[in-house]
Amino acid sequence: MRNYVFSFEEGSKEMKSLLGGKGANLSEMTNIGLPVPPGFTISTEACIQYFQDGQKINDIIKEQILCKIKWLESKAGQSFSNASGFFISVRSGASVSMPGMMDTILNLGLNDNSVEILSKKTRNNRFALDCYRRFIQMYGNVVHEVPHSKFELILEKIKRENSISRDTELEEEHLKQIIVNFKELIFTYTGKPLEQDPEKQLLSAIEAVFKSWNNERAQTYRKINNIPDDLGTAVNIQSMVFGNMGDASGTGVVFSRNPSNGTKGIYGEFLLNAQGEDVVAGIRTPEPISELEIIFPEIYKELNEAIHLLEQHYKDMQDIEFTIQERKLYLLQTRSGKRTVEAALNIAVDMVREGVISKQKALLDFDESKLSNLLHPTFDKDKIKSIRELSSGLPACPGAASGKVYFNSEDVVMAKDKGIKAILVRTETSAEDINGMYSAEGILTSRGGMTSHAAVVARGMGKCCITNCRNLIIDVKQKFAIINDIKIHEGDVISIDGTSGKVYLGDIPTQQTSFSDNFNTFLNWADEESILKVFANADSPIDARKTIEFGAKGIGLCRTEHMFFKIERLMAVREMIFANSKPERMAALEKLFPFQKDDFVEIFKVMKEYPVSIRLLDPPLHEFLPKDKIEMENTANALNLSYEEVKQKVEDLSESNPMLGHRGCRLGITYPEIYEMQVRAIILAALETRDSTGISPKPEIMIPLVGSEKELSVLRERLEEVITSTDKNTVLGKISIGTMIEVPRACIIADKIAEYADFFSFGTNDLTQMTFGYSRDDSGPFIKIYQKNKILKDDPFQVLDQNGVGELMKIAIEKGRKTNWNLKLGICGEHGGDTASILFCHNLGLDYISCSPYRVPAARIAAAKAALASVNETVKVVLS
Ligand code: PEP
Ligand code: MG
Repeated sequence: MRNYVFSFEEGSKEMKSLLGGKGANLSEMTNIGLPVPPGFTISTEACIQYFQDGQKINDIIKEQILCKIKWLESKAGQSFSNASGFFISVRSGASVSMPGMMDTILNLGLNDNSVEILSKKTRNNRFALDCYRRFIQMYGNVVHEVPHSKFELILEKIKRENSISRDTELEEEHLKQIIVNFKELIFTYTGKPLEQDPEKQLLSAIEAVFKSWNNERAQTYRKINNIPDDLGTAVNIQSMVFGNMGDASGTGVVFSRNPSNGTKGIYGEFLLNAQGEDVVAGIRTPEPISELEIIFPEIYKELNEAIHLLEQHYKDMQDIEFTIQERKLYLLQTRSGKRTVEAALNIAVDMVREGVISKQKALLDFDESKLSNLLHPTFDKDKIKSIRELSSGLPACPGAASGKVYFNSEDVVMAKDKGIKAILVRTETSAEDINGMYSAEGILTSRGGMTSHAAVVARGMGKCCITNCRNLIIDVKQKFAIINDIKIHEGDVISIDGTSGKVYLGDIPTQQTSFSDNFNTFLNWADEESILKVFANADSPIDARKTIEFGAKGIGLCRTEHMFFKIERLMAVREMIFANSKPERMAALEKLFPFQKDDFVEIFKVMKEYPVSIRLLDPPLHEFLPKDKIEMENTANALNLSYEEVKQKVEDLSESNPMLGHRGCRLGITYPEIYEMQVRAIILAALETRDSTGISPKPEIMIPLVGSEKELSVLRERLEEVITSTDKNTVLGKISIGTMIEVPRACIIADKIAEYADFFSFGTNDLTQMTFGYSRDDSGPFIKIYQKNKILKDDPFQVLDQNGVGELMKIAIEKGRKTNWNLKLGICGEHGGDTASILFCHNLGLDYISCSPYRVPAARIAAAKAALASVNETVKVVLS
């Protein structure tokens, strides 16, 4: 018979998929001798089985749970089932960390009878009543789905009536009244009194936790974080320890290193006389952990040693939950700590230097998907001086964001859909706010600490966040806030600095952060491991500088049409497009020539001897035609034409399917003078750069949208003539001429095309468009629906479709190399910056990937991971 329930002694950290992260780590901590309250884990398989059985805990699983409860009772020497004062916690715990997304119930087993037993046992009636009201609140919310806010309203009312500001000031009489009111609330919702039988409470709680795997916020979290829906959650059942037994008790959360910047040393917060949710929910503002050293030096020392041991054991920064019950320390959880990307880099580099992990492990464990956050701007310091500072709070997650204020998540999501930048301003966030947090530029809360829900989730998302903002009072209903006597309405613009914790009124321009030494060190380690070269797609000298700054080793795609979007250039392009004869076109091209050449000179100077792959003109014409009346009038004025003439030209030139129309090499074939001008500009720019700087530029010429070998052979012949006649003494050496592979036919006849190509660069944007038959410009809405209906897992324009487009690439590589063994291979579609696609490209044996400059750092790490993963695979094969 399958075992669904495991005591902590039976598990280990390797059993994450079965026991969930929390369960596996509770087992591990138990087995390495750390003080963990005894307990057991109901496996993720039980959760999956629960859903397969039509949301029912079957008899086998029920039997195993009850059997383990007996075991726990005998271990504790106390009875749970008879409500004799032995209590347990029921916590969710999936195999992938989903903080706060699923449910937890503490103090389970409490009822009208056992609350008195607890009171007598602890000689603390207030404590017993406090536990009971907490239990009813959690049980009511999780099992009966009574909104959390309804309980809070009751609590707030009683506090208000008795002029109490803190929960800890509630007296026994108040708590008794709260319990009565809470029970009434449950009765109103369920039509039944609060369940008194501990065993029934337990089974309902387990069922509710299983169900919470599929609650809306958990589903959203999984979608955002690409977590499969079929993993299920484990449930951890543990003897209760109480952090709210009085002033010799408490609870807290600590990290083994600072999760904001990575600095080594214990970092965290705690609250005396409190239970876990008080810290996480931000209901009370906790004390820094350093205070614990003053209050309980022995416990602080023990905690410090445990944290150190755990970090060494797991070889990663740990996030630990602890409870102190009457001066005795218990560990309730350890997991890899969520951290900002800046902290992740610093921790990785420090741990390698400390000899805790190898460079390779540091690279393999690094989550590069958030790296772009580091590259994002901070506020322009000079501009801040003239902006009104409203207030400040705790700097929960670094970064800078300006946007319009919204006071609930739905409004933020709606604003985002309209393209409005929004700041989510809340008293405190809860798991229901996940969508709003995801859509917001930044998050500001009036309550909560550095480990509150808002702080933890924002850090995970890499979102700028400030918690505990002083003097911020929010009226959610009327949609306004008051910060230090200034009234802020919905839609007013504020700026928040998640690094300093400061809040400003109005919009502040931002500036780029410079990279730390650790950033460069880490990326250089990545380059040492990778086989794929990482290039960037760059079309201007500014982009080229970013390319170098971010560590790309060349430009894999310079889209020349992007060099023509400035207004004076655009008019010359329109003149060229509208030309009725070759001489007219030549005249327009002569106007473009100096722009083109000068840009190339600047780019070559920046790129020095790195390759620069320049793609000749590939404009779907509609991108360049004037669209409205004003634009047509402006064009008419600039080109000395009448408005009617321009209108007529636009009508004549407009195509039904511009993406499949007169673009790419088709333009080069019909109007040879365009590509000839461009190649002349490239070669002269390279010669000029050489003469003026001594640099030997490495231009490569790339022909777009080739679908037949004839297109390439004709163009190659013509362009080689231009090269020879411009660089008469072959000073530049051989100039590579290659092609984009972006038409499915080109993949199929790649052997023929490769006879005329020095390189192939897969243009997977167009290749995806033409393979699926999905328009690049129009497919967004239905692809979202396809993903929702699980027809497509990913958007194929973002993540390479390995089965279809990938197969075509394989064919092209195999055939291409057959006739040209020396063929250089790369990719320059958007997929060149996507981790999964990079891994696939590595396995295909490409020489390089090319992506937008801001994606280069992450691509460098992904390329290293791909190389390390294939080494690991080879090792596995050799060993097996
Ligand atoms: C491509 O099609 O993948 C490509 C890089 O070219 P563009 O996006 O400019 O069409
Ligand atoms: Mg293309």
